[in-house]
Formats: sequence, C-alpha cells, structure tokens
Amino acid sequence: MTTWIHCNSCYRNYSRDYQFYMLNCSHILCHGCLQSQVIAKRNECKWCKRPVRYRKICKEIFIEN
Ligand SMILES: [Zn+2]
Ligand SMILES: [Zn+2]
Repeated sequence: MTTWIHCNSCYRNYSRDYQFYMLNCSHILCHGCLQSQVIAKRNECKWCKRPVRYRKICKEIFIEN
C-alpha cells in the first residue's frame, strides 16, 4: 500500500510497525536515522544543511494529501 515511502538514509521501507518522519524539505527519515542524523545535528538536515521541521508520517497524511 505505502511501500513507495522509504527512509532516504538507510532505505528501510515504510511500515506501520516503525515510525517514519517527513521533513519540511521533503526528505523522509525513519525513527533511527532521525535520531542519529537530525536530532544529533540540532535539527539540521544532513542533505540540505538547513534547520528542519518534521512530522510523523501516518496514514492520515495519505488521506489528506
Ligand atoms: Zn533510516
Ligand atoms: Zn533535506
């Protein structure tokens, strides 16, 4: 169903068993990568090098968008 979503860092596929986040720069990270790469760098996207906001990806996003 939503297998087109995957972590842009480790390429783990989206699943309901694992939390994923979408950054405002449109990059997608899984929970583990967000912790190690975004939060550790003070909310800086590793690719964009800019401060980022992020929100959880959940099935509601796919309904709205
Ligand atoms: Zn990841
Ligand atoms: Zn980014």
